[in-house]
Amino acid sequence: MRYISTRGQAPALPFEETMLTGLARDGGLYVPDALPRFTAEELQAMVGLPYEEVALRVMLPFVEDSIDAATFRTLIGEAYSGFGHALRCPLAQTGPNDWVLELHHGPTLAFKDVAMQLIGRLFEFVLNRRGERVTIVGATSGDTGSAAIEAFRGNSAADVFILFPHGRVSEVQRRQMTTPADANVHALAVEGDFDDCQALVKAMFNDFAFRDEAGLAAINSINWARVMAQTVYYFTAALALGAPGRPVSFSVPTGNFGDIYAGNVARGMGLPVESLVIATNENDILHRCMQTGEYRRSEVVQTTAPSMDIQVSSNFERAIFDALDHDAYAVAELMQALSSGGFTLGANAMSRLRASYHSARVSQSETAETIARIHAETGQILDPHSAIAVHGAAQVRGNPQTPMIALACAHAAKFPDAVEAACGIRPPLPPRLADLYEREERMTVIANDLAQIQSLIRERRQP
Ligand SMILES: *Cc1c(COP(=O)(O)O)cnc(C)c1O
Repeated sequence: MRYISTRGQAPALPFEETMLTGLARDGGLYVPDALPRFTAEELQAMVGLPYEEVALRVMLPFVEDSIDAATFRTLIGEAYSGFGHALRCPLAQTGPNDWVLELHHGPTLAFKDVAMQLIGRLFEFVLNRRGERVTIVGATSGDTGSAAIEAFRGNSAADVFILFPHGRVSEVQRRQMTTPADANVHALAVEGDFDDCQALVKAMFNDFAFRDEAGLAAINSINWARVMAQTVYYFTAALALGAPGRPVSFSVPTGNFGDIYAGNVARGMGLPVESLVIATNENDILHRCMQTGEYRRSEVVQTTAPSMDIQVSSNFERAIFDALDHDAYAVAELMQALSSGGFTLGANAMSRLRASYHSARVSQSETAETIARIHAETGQILDPHSAIAVHGAAQVRGNPQTPMIALACAHAAKFPDAVEAACGIRPPLPPRLADLYEREERMTVIANDLAQIQSLIRERRQP
């Protein structure tokens, strides 16, 4: 399988290079040139298999040019052995034909672990085979950084430097980044805000001499390997609720569009998915675009679901590429227009997008009400992101015979203040993390200064 850029000006690559590169050199995102497709019989044969076995069957066609099946099976096994639930991504019922898919049983209690835990092992395997080392550099407002650190701690082929805004992440998030004691983990508290952290990372990647010298690599949500790893739970959930014999629908709390795009990939591989609901909070650029065709950024509003407090959704470019029938030239033009504020999609592209996705916007008060209602009705405690998915699903519920699965992307204990305000209960950390508040912290507070951060990386990375 070859991977091509959504902007058409970068070389097609095999899986290994696609994963190590992340962003294409023309600024585009890599997608497979064609999706593998499972027959109904092949899907039926996956019903009832363990998560890891479904993962192997679903992902092998994407990686088999680079990684043999036996090695891949081992890496998958290692990636999910640290999850706190035997099913890895279990379903829980919230209504007659309504479900939540719990994606927060990984080590940092957010769905990002599902992809990141696998990517850490894939990087280590291919880099050791090449005799290379990389320096992972990323900026985080919370969840991504802790998932990356947890996935790469102790990695024999990578150092990981995560920049976060000093004093502006939650205590749980900070401790998840500062308590791993491994020598290759470097948590940098930058005296600035999240945008400053992002700008610093961007500047390091644009400094080509530094980028080559330090072997910088990115593992942000546009990396194809992350999308690939996220397709798996769409399969396991749908198969548990009647696929391939009956279709299912999903509602996805959406920020950068990586998670919901994985659902559309699963559909393209033959999984019967009726509806995919883009659930947004008050940062509703995607909902507005689905309504009007106009994709235009506005100001970011802070909400209780910070992982969705995003204006421009980077993976949406992949959906546009699909809606424009893989016209890379047209995608490149739209992305050019986005840098000066926005663009409007034509009628054809919009009708194709609307055939693939529905959308809903969920307010702060609706989010809190949903947390309280689900707790009162079922005893389950949702985090704000998950509550947005549940409420979004209810807003655009189609055929009641079709199971509706809302993705629960974070554990409630990650956002204890918002959850307590909504339902009066302060959710405790699960037992395996209960001592998080006692573990020793280790971080470097550093000025919002590119040169200082670059020299720190030069000093600390292992050559
Ligand atoms: C990252 C994240 C999201 C958004 O996922 P995207 O793939 O960026 O759309 C939603 N909820 C939680 C809890 C997250 O950590």
